[in-house]
Amino acid sequence: MPFFKPRARPPLRAEAVGEEAFRAGRRQLLALGCACCAAMALAPNPAAAQSPLVQQHLAAARAAAGDDLRAYLRLGEVAAPTPGLRSASPAELRAMATPPPGRAFDNLAFVGSRWVTAWAITTSDGIILVDAMDNDADAERIPDAGMRQLGLDPAQIRTLVVSHGHGDHYGGAGHFVRRYGSRVVCSEADWTMMETGLEFDRPDWGRPPRRDLAVRDGDMIRLGDTALEVMITPGHTMGTVTLLFDVRQGGRTHRAMMWGGTAFNFGARADRIPRLQGYIDATARAREIAARQNVEVFLSNHNVYDEAVEKLGRMRPGAANPFVIGAAATQRALTVMHECARATMAAWSA
Ligand SMILES: [Zn+2]
Repeated sequence: MPFFKPRARPPLRAEAVGEEAFRAGRRQLLALGCACCAAMALAPNPAAAQSPLVQQHLAAARAAAGDDLRAYLRLGEVAAPTPGLRSASPAELRAMATPPPGRAFDNLAFVGSRWVTAWAITTSDGIILVDAMDNDADAERIPDAGMRQLGLDPAQIRTLVVSHGHGDHYGGAGHFVRRYGSRVVCSEADWTMMETGLEFDRPDWGRPPRRDLAVRDGDMIRLGDTALEVMITPGHTMGTVTLLFDVRQGGRTHRAMMWGGTAFNFGARADRIPRLQGYIDATARAREIAARQNVEVFLSNHNVYDEAVEKLGRMRPGAANPFVIGAAATQRALTVMHECARATMAAWSA
């Protein structure tokens, strides 16, 4: 597929990032017609939702969510619905007008849709784009055009990080590879999944990028003055890449965690229990890491969770940045995710 053939490019300065030879795997495209990142119908029987253990975990999730983090409670809908919390469907979100791009921080720009987010991290030596939208046309229309609106040159995208191997994050990767020679970074597990067996596919998703750079837990993705610390947070996929990095505004620096895959929409039912346990463990570990690193900014690649569009709309010169939710709220967000996962596990086990 010449579409994916990388041209000769300067090497990415990455520590411990191994370049893997592309192995042409048979792609088993599962025409499930499902939406990648929204909660899927894997609901337990209604009686299980009423079990005391499920209710105990959901109560802990609601307590952690407070009024400001209720968006994450939709994860608990797999176990039992949260009254008053309505989730727009992926189709509804896709049909909504593209929000204006905006700078969340001096070095971080939102260039996504209502459905899925691409984040542009600017460095002293080019741009790192995290996620690539559903397909080439969306990549051109949304992050590419959005960056230009913000005065950023998409030709400077040296590195494209694909957070995980679902098409709403890799589908537009070819646009950046072909036009700008961007290098593509993903985890080993999700490169393998993209090569050998997509768990979801849709006709409007672009094909997976050709295997390029693989990262492992603890690696640093470096470009210019910027380092992104890689944390593999299994569950949503087994190789979901979550990133830790500094964001700056004026003279202030904050530590950010960009969570790579949030919903419990496990495609392969046979392995859903270990995947959900992986998610439970990953959120517990992330809480410890976030506490150690004083993470005050918690970001998602779906607006439905971090409400980035709404936060951009609330930004005012000289006022507190709404993306800086603080260390305590970051802990609470991870607790909501963790407790919703435990509620779901309890429901499946009931
Ligand atoms: Zn996904």
